[in-house]
This record gives sequence, C-alpha cells and structure tokens, in this order.
Amino acid sequence: MSEKNHVICASCGSINNVPAARMADNPVCGKCKKPVMTGQPMELNEAGFNRFVSKSDQPLLVDFWAPWCGPCKMMAPVFTQAATQLEPQFRLIKVNTEVEQNLAGRLRIQSIPTLAIYKNGQEVIRQPGAMGLGDLTSWARSHA
Ligand SMILES: [Zn+2]
Repeated sequence: MSEKNHVICASCGSINNVPAARMADNPVCGKCKKPVMTGQPMELNEAGFNRFVSKSDQPLLVDFWAPWCGPCKMMAPVFTQAATQLEPQFRLIKVNTEVEQNLAGRLRIQSIPTLAIYKNGQEVIRQPGAMGLGDLTSWARSHA
C-alpha cells in the first residue's frame, strides 16, 4: 500500500488523500466533513462506477445485481455485512444492471449476481453466482 491513498468520499465524491496509517481511523472528508467511508455498500451509476474504477486506490468489490433476481436479494444482506468487514481495505459497490444497462453491456455481465474485483483501474477477477459471507470475504481478500 502506498503512503497515501486516494479515497473517494461516499457522500460528495471528492478524492481525499488519506495516509495509509490513518485508513482505519474513520477518516473525514476534507470537503464535506462527512466520513469518507460509511461501512455500507454504495449504489453507483455508470459515471460513479467509472470514477471509482479510475480514481480509487482502494480495490473495489462490486455486486452486479437486479431487482427481479432472487439470488441477488439473498446476496444483499451478505454484501452489506461484508462491507463492515472489508472496509477500509476494500470499497463495496453495487450496480443495478437493470438501470445501468449500458454499463452492464459494456462489461459483458452475462449473469447476475456477478461479483467482481477491480484494482488499479482493471478488473482482476469476476465470479458469477451468490456467495456466503465467509466465502465472499476470503475470496475478496485473496485478490486484494
Ligand atoms: Zn465528502
């Protein structure tokens, strides 16, 4: 991990420079004064997703889901719980593929849920299908 990390504020989207040693201290945004990380997954549109992939120094764990998908609904509370365990190492992001059809098409998301990890602007790995909490957190950490 570099000495300072670009961390994107969950509230206003500003990029904050957070020293590596302060990442776990619930850093506050320099612009809006709210916590930059909330311990909650963030629902992002295509522009927000692009911003995180290109600007965040934290690896991203993304849940591509849709409202009509039963396994996605079962996955949702697991993903929320995983956020409390994986931040600040990761940021957890949700993309509603029914709303963000352009993005899902561009990324060739073929089944949902699909879980994917992005790091340094690149997709590292993706895994179709729901996962339990223990499998999800250990899978994510093994690709951090
Ligand atoms: Zn902010």
